[in-house]
Formats: sequence, C-alpha cells, structure tokens
Amino acid sequence: MLVEMNRAARPTALTIAGFDPSSGAGMTADLAVFTAHGCFGTSAITALTVQSTLGVRRVQATDADLLAETLAYLQEDLPPAGVKIGMLANGDLVRVVADYLRTVRAIGQSVPVVLDPVVVSSSGSLLLDAHGLAMLQTQLLPLVDVITPNTDELQLLTGTTCSDEPAIRSAMAALQAEGSDLAIVATGGHRPEPDDIVLHKGEFHVLRGRHVATKATHGTGCAFSSAVLCGLLSGHSVVQAAERAKRYVEGAMTYAEPLGRGHGPMRLDWRSLRLDR
Ligand code: PLP
Repeated sequence: MLVEMNRAARPTALTIAGFDPSSGAGMTADLAVFTAHGCFGTSAITALTVQSTLGVRRVQATDADLLAETLAYLQEDLPPAGVKIGMLANGDLVRVVADYLRTVRAIGQSVPVVLDPVVVSSSGSLLLDAHGLAMLQTQLLPLVDVITPNTDELQLLTGTTCSDEPAIRSAMAALQAEGSDLAIVATGGHRPEPDDIVLHKGEFHVLRGRHVATKATHGTGCAFSSAVLCGLLSGHSVVQAAERAKRYVEGAMTYAEPLGRGHGPMRLDWRSLRLDR
C-alpha cells in the first residue's frame, strides 16, 4: 500500500564549515544534525582536514574564490532559511562569508545566522588563524544573530580570563556591543558544572547541564550550534532553542557507539532509535 507522504518542503539550512573525514565534527556532522531535526541541509566547505578521532593532522583551507562561487550559486537556487557558520580557517574566508551575509541581509528576508567561533580543535590544532580571528570580530560579528563560544573561545574573543561564572558573565556583556541584538550562548560543557549561559536582550539565563561520562565528545560544539539553528527555524526563541540543543547533545553523547581510539563521534540520530528494545 502506498503511504501518503508529506511533501511539504523542509526548511533549508546551510552550513559553512570545515570537512572532518571522521564525521564527528564539521559539515558532515552539521548535515546529520539538520536531518535529525527535519531540515534539508546544504553545505559550503571552508577547509579539508586530515583528521580522525585521534586528532587533526593537517588543514588545507579552501580557495576563497571557490567558496564565494559556491555560496553565490547555492543562493541562486537553494536560498537557505538559516545559516550556521563553523570553522573558517583564515581571514580571506571570513571576508567571503561576511560579503555573502551582506547580500543575504540586503534581500531583506529574516534569515537566522548562528556562528560557532571555532578557533582551536579540542586536540589542540589551530582552525582559525590570528588574521581570521580579528576579521571575525570586526566583520562577521555584526552580521550574525547568535554566537556560541565555549569558555576558551570567549576568552580569545574578549581578551579576558573566564575562570568562573561572574567572569564569564562580564566577558559576555563585553562581547555584546552596546545596543546590539547579538545573542550569546556561552557553552559550559567542559567546565565542572556543565551549564550554559545565555545573554539575550540584556537578560542572562542559565541552562543547567548534566555530565555525561563518555569519550564521544568530538564535535559537540558543531552539533550544538547546528541544533540551535534548527530550533530557531522551528520558531523557538533563542533561549528555548539553546535549551533544546543542549538536551539533544546530551542525548547524542549518552547513546554514542564506541567508535575510534580517541574522542569518538556522537550518535546524532539518537532520537530515531527504538529505545524500548
Ligand atoms: N574539525 C572541523 C572540520 C571542525 O569544524 C571542528 C569544529 O568545530 C573541529 C574539527 C573541532 O572539533 P572538536 O573541537 O570537537 O575536536
């Protein structure tokens, strides 16, 4: 018997990110998160990495013209309802992405943009150079709606030490320029209390987390920021989207398979598992 299918178009979510061949982080993980949340995913690659669960060996940034052409061609045919930005590698690619966002903004549609300010991998490799970080702060930040730094990234972006919650809150307030609508979700997965703090429209919100004892922590930042974008595309507020993304990532760590010899991938489709069997 033919099953009546719902042919309503899913929202298109674009990820601008690096390629991790081990599928734990970067654009392949982002696409898995989009699918798990009922979004159709497109992607523009900023860098190839030689990488496994044991770490990053090598990074090869994409040619800036190739990235610009990819974004322009996708925009003509599959304009995204929302954009997630991850690894950007260098200042030339940050400039391309900022130019692209300006054209999207000029069209006038409301397209939520979530930036995961990836600078260093958890295995210690540099994924954004110093020029890229400076460009991200001056060119990209004014064009995004939500930024999701972890504590290390917040320190790099603000030049302050974020040793405890009050210090994190003042760094967040400093990052949010006066009058700007930028929402900041400071992720705390690596801290002793794995709580996230959201600063949106002048108010702080604390999202309590629970520690999951697992080695499957590779790509948690990528998956979280992609899930936040999907929440926004479903009509949730920033705080609700961050709360839902946090629960999603906790589940993805909880149900992860033991893969690889290092920090393995999460189970990004865990919600479709038959957990009663
Ligand atoms: N590789 C790529 C391509 C990424 O985009 C990222 C994440 O942001 C990473 C590696 C780093 O992931 P992790 O810090 O979980 O190792």
